[in-house]
Amino acid sequence: MGSVGIGGSHPVSIQSMTAVPTGDVRATLDQIETLKDEECDIIRVAVPDRDSLPAFAKIITKSPLPVVADIHFDAYLALRAIESGAAGIRINPGNIGSKKKLKEILNLANQVNIPIRIGVNSGSIEKKYWREKGTKAEIMVRSVMDSVRFFEDSGFFNIKISLKSSNVRETVTAYRLIDQACDYPLHLGITEAGTFFSGTVKSAVGLGSLLMDGIGSTIRVSLTEDPVKEVRVAREILKATGHRVKGIEIISCPTCARTSVDLIPIVKEVEKRITGFKTDKRIVAAIMGCEVNGPGEAREADIGLAFSRSRGFIFKKGEMVEKIAPRDAVPRLIELIKDLL
Ligand code: SF4
Repeated sequence: MGSVGIGGSHPVSIQSMTAVPTGDVRATLDQIETLKDEECDIIRVAVPDRDSLPAFAKIITKSPLPVVADIHFDAYLALRAIESGAAGIRINPGNIGSKKKLKEILNLANQVNIPIRIGVNSGSIEKKYWREKGTKAEIMVRSVMDSVRFFEDSGFFNIKISLKSSNVRETVTAYRLIDQACDYPLHLGITEAGTFFSGTVKSAVGLGSLLMDGIGSTIRVSLTEDPVKEVRVAREILKATGHRVKGIEIISCPTCARTSVDLIPIVKEVEKRITGFKTDKRIVAAIMGCEVNGPGEAREADIGLAFSRSRGFIFKKGEMVEKIAPRDAVPRLIELIKDLL
């Protein structure tokens, strides 16, 4: 996908989608820049109608990330988006028109050597599958595999697949089945996952389960939120599943009756201050609320901070190196994290 490898031994990449009108080139590019800074790897831009095509073409030439055109219903849009230089396109073969039109798209994509994602959502399965026997997950997989065979019969193999549902269990089952059925890279996502809170939980459970099984080559977290939050959640899921090891990981205790300081605002403050720090290393910083269990965890981290009522104890690579007044602890911790970047 442009400069980003997907599948095989390539790292699992993060995708998001712009959430401003495609016709507004400036706003779209600004959003792409912001998402790139948040470590988004690939951006998808909807091409909702023919009027959006000139703007889409401009966005592609200036975008710092590979741009995927998201197309529904109109093969003409797909053809023009490919001609404009899209790094890939996403279509639902069930709603793009006749087989002849679909073949035209495949031929053109083949000529310029770009991938196509076959993106099926449980809510948009073609009518002809509605009466089929089996679970929704099985029917989704059958419909995708029919498309895959059509693509292959047309000489097109540069395929990615997604089959999303807003039901986590159904999505996970469908991806497990498709993973058994073919070797193409899978784009993971829970569609219409919801608001920040519930969508994050659903995505973490669904995408996390699959990633832990080694399934998935690229992910998109869908939230009814600013896409910046989608990318942050995606990053955390990749970190938690061991797929993206670089970056700063904050470990903090849940607090309890032993907690010696007002720990929650302290941790939030640290989290805020490290936003935007860039590193190719994995740095673990622990912030713990007492001197009973805190030092143990703080010692395990690259940088640790454990509080007593009157002191903050700073640990570096297992050794206690400084005692500090609690009010000076956060700035000092930030300095020490910076030294490790
Ligand atoms: Fe409680 Fe200390 Fe454990 Fe934090 S580290 S939860 S304050 S015992």
